[in-house]
Amino acid sequence: MIDWEKEGAEAAARLGAMLRFDTTNPPGNELPLVEWLAESVRGEGLDAEVIESAASRGNLAVRMKGSGKERPLLFLSHLDVVPAEPARWTHPPFEGTIADGHVWGRGAIDSKLTGATQLQALLMAHRAGLALERDLVLVAAADEELGGVHGVRWLAQHRPDLFDAEYGINEAGGFAVEIGGHPVYLCQVGEKGSAPIDLVGRGRPGHSSVPHNDNPIVDLGVALSRMEGTKLSHQPPASVRAFFEEAAKIHPDEQTAAHLQACLDPKRADEAIEALDAPQATRLMLDAMLRNTCAPTMLSAGLKRNVIPSDARAALSGRPLPGVTEEEFISEVRALVGDAVEIELTGEFHPGVEFDHETPLYDFIAASTRKYEPDAIVVPYMQTGGTDARFLKHLDIAIHGYIPMRYEAGMDFFELCHGHDERVSTTNVTFAVQILYDLVLRLNGLLE
Ligand SMILES: [Zn+2]
Repeated sequence: MIDWEKEGAEAAARLGAMLRFDTTNPPGNELPLVEWLAESVRGEGLDAEVIESAASRGNLAVRMKGSGKERPLLFLSHLDVVPAEPARWTHPPFEGTIADGHVWGRGAIDSKLTGATQLQALLMAHRAGLALERDLVLVAAADEELGGVHGVRWLAQHRPDLFDAEYGINEAGGFAVEIGGHPVYLCQVGEKGSAPIDLVGRGRPGHSSVPHNDNPIVDLGVALSRMEGTKLSHQPPASVRAFFEEAAKIHPDEQTAAHLQACLDPKRADEAIEALDAPQATRLMLDAMLRNTCAPTMLSAGLKRNVIPSDARAALSGRPLPGVTEEEFISEVRALVGDAVEIELTGEFHPGVEFDHETPLYDFIAASTRKYEPDAIVVPYMQTGGTDARFLKHLDIAIHGYIPMRYEAGMDFFELCHGHDERVSTTNVTFAVQILYDLVLRLNGLLE
């Protein structure tokens, strides 16, 4: 009999300890955390590799050997985090406080939770001496939040052996959203790409006391104002179609099911999303799954109040759907913002990716979840952000993002992930460990 309270508490304590390492990226500095994790794993009699991709940038790899009858299972996570503003937090972001039934800190969800719960499931398998049919490989990487240059992108090039696996479980999915009063668990099988683009107004410099009609700030304003209340076109890719179709098929509430189905109809989607009984954050997410997006996030122009500048710039965070090319994306943005500004791609265009979701892994994920949450609706899902899985798309591996978390009112996944007071309940830590361990059993033929 497994003592889940004990296993969950151990994972939560490890998560707290991991949060005490400040791995804000930049600069990342994941190495001390990787060394600490490696040390504790070695203490259990397992091999742990510390892989340095650059000075102070560390990646952890742990392999629990199986018989080799099947190809390995990969547990993938990242150890770096986005910056935090400590003054805005209830508990300091880098102290790993456990209070009020939660583990608090930057990375408590994204993505040290992933590494802490995956490691717990691996250690449980090791301590129980499970006879695995496939190696279980855990990779906790550096640098996900800044393009994976020193993390999975680097590892895919220098250590492809780590990713020679049939299946991978990654961050970015598994959390439940509430739709129509019912928990819907999102199994992430696709993700959007990214397109860093700038809108640039160009004009003529001049003295502000004699204004002319060639002011780039005004041109930029005109372009940006065209975005008000306008969206890019409705064009759901396969993983998104699967999400709405499956959710509509399984959902017990007839009206909710009808609304979900209608989201796939470009003419009815807006109304259907509006009518869904779901928190606004969830409705916004559903809308962003149906189309490319390009939110303005930064503005810059001008040097001095009395000088009309020669250019003005707005940075847009472009998020192309899987299947959308650079040209298609830019031309869609062009049609939206008009001709008064130039459009510049300021970095690499990364297309979105999709993995096949008709896999035994997906079926096992659904079965494991329902074992601990019999009411659960599990559906395929495309995440509106990006993860390290994109660097592994060319390999023969099916990766699903799935660290399950029960829905808790007021705990919006996306607000917490990069926001203030990022935290996870200890009950959800236990829940994730239960399901990950159950998956290890199923994927190794140790459970009917
Ligand atoms: Zn992440």
